[in-house]
Amino acid sequence: MDILHKTILCPFCGHPTHITLDISGEDQDDIEDCSNCCNPIHVQTHKDELRNKVQVFIDAEDEQYY
Ligand SMILES: [Zn+2]
Repeated sequence: MDILHKTILCPFCGHPTHITLDISGEDQDDIEDCSNCCNPIHVQTHKDELRNKVQVFIDAEDEQYY
C-alpha cells in the first residue's frame, strides 16, 4: 500500500490540514474536514503512472450560492 502524507491548505480559512492518502489504487476522491473550521475539503488525487507522480487537487466541496 502506498501512503502519501500531505499538508493541504483549507480553501475556506487557509488553515493547514494534514491528510493521509492511500494512493495504491485508482484515482481517489475524498472529503476531509478542516480541523479548524470544520468545512468539508474535496481532495482528489490523480496518479500519473508514466511519471510515477501523484497530483493532488484541492477544492471546496459544494458550490454555494448566496
Ligand atoms: Zn478551514
